[in-house]
Amino acid sequence: MITGKTQVFGLIGNPVAQSFSPYIHNSLAEAMNIDMTYVTFPVEKVKLSEAYRGIKALGIGGANVTVPYKSDIINEIDAIDPEAANIGAVNTLVYEEGKSIRGYNTDWIGLLTSLKSNLVTIEGKSVLIIGAGGSARAVGVMCAKEKAAKVTVANRTVSKAEAIAAIVAEKYDVVSRVVTIDQAQNLEDVDIVIQTTPLGMYPDIERSPISGDDFLKNAEVAVDLIYNPAETKFLATARQQGCKTINGLEMLFYQAVKAFELWHDLTVPKEVQAKCLEAFKKALEEKYQYH
Ligand code: NAP
Repeated sequence: MITGKTQVFGLIGNPVAQSFSPYIHNSLAEAMNIDMTYVTFPVEKVKLSEAYRGIKALGIGGANVTVPYKSDIINEIDAIDPEAANIGAVNTLVYEEGKSIRGYNTDWIGLLTSLKSNLVTIEGKSVLIIGAGGSARAVGVMCAKEKAAKVTVANRTVSKAEAIAAIVAEKYDVVSRVVTIDQAQNLEDVDIVIQTTPLGMYPDIERSPISGDDFLKNAEVAVDLIYNPAETKFLATARQQGCKTINGLEMLFYQAVKAFELWHDLTVPKEVQAKCLEAFKKALEEKYQYH
C-alpha cells in the first residue's frame, strides 16, 4: 500500500505510456518488500533540464531515462559511470553522496545477463552487430568488455558503425571492423550475430535487416534486441538455419534488475529474479497482448 513514506521512482522519456518498466520495478519492489512505487514521467524535450531538477527537488528515489533522452541527459548529471561514458548513453540515474546523481547504462549489463542465463559466452567469439544506434553502442561495449575475439559492425550509415568500431578498438583494445549490411550477410567468420535495428518490430513484423534466407552459415547464436514479436523474421530465419535464438525480453528485464540493485544497494537473489521474470512473461501474454 502507498503511504506517506513510500518512495517514488520513475521513468523519464517520450513516449513512456507503453513502457513495461513500471510492471517490472513494482513487481521487484513487492518481491523484495521495498516501500516504493515506480511511475512514468512523459517529458517534452524543452523540459528535460527542468524535469531533472524536479527529480532532485522532489526527492525522487532514482530514475530511468529512455528514448529520446539517453544521450541528452548526460549534459545534466553530476557524474557518469565509465561504461556509460564510452557508450554515450545513460538510462539509470542513481544518487551518490548527498544530492549528487551519477548516470549509468544498464542496457549492456541486461544483455550480458540475458546471454549468460542462456549459456552464451562472448569471450573469444567473433560477434557481428547489425545496426549502430544507441543500443548497438551498448552492445559493442559489452562485447569489448567481455573480450570478444573480434567485433564487426554493419550499418546503413557507415560513419555510425565506424564510431562503434573505434570505441571497441581504442578503449578496449579489441579487434573490430566495419562492413556493409550486404557484406554482413556472407561473412563466414561470425559466431554470434546481434540484431539491434528496429526492423521487424510490431506491427512491421515482415521486415528484417537481412534479405536472404541463407545468411551467416557458420553462426551459432542469433540475438534480436526486439521483444515484440517474440520471434522476429530475423530470428525465425536464424532458427531455421540451426542457430540458437534469443530475443530482447530478458535483456529488458535484467537491465531493470540492475537499475533496481543500484538504487537500493542490494542484490536481488536469483530465485526472486526467476520468479519476477516468469510473472513478467505471463503478464505480457495476458495483459499487454504480447504478439
Ligand atoms: P536507434 O538509436 O534509433 O538506432 C536504430 C538503428 O537501426 C540505426 O543503426 C539505424 O541505421 C538502423 N535502422 C533503422 N531503420 C533502418 C532501416 N530501414 N534500414 C536499415 N537500418 C535501419 O535505436 P536504438 O535505441 O538502438 O533501438 C533499436 C532497437 O533496439 C529498437 O527496436 C528497440 O526497441 C530495441 N531495444 C531493446 C532493448 C531491450 O532491452 N531489449 C533496449 C534498447 C533497445 P542508421 O544509423 O543508418 O539510421
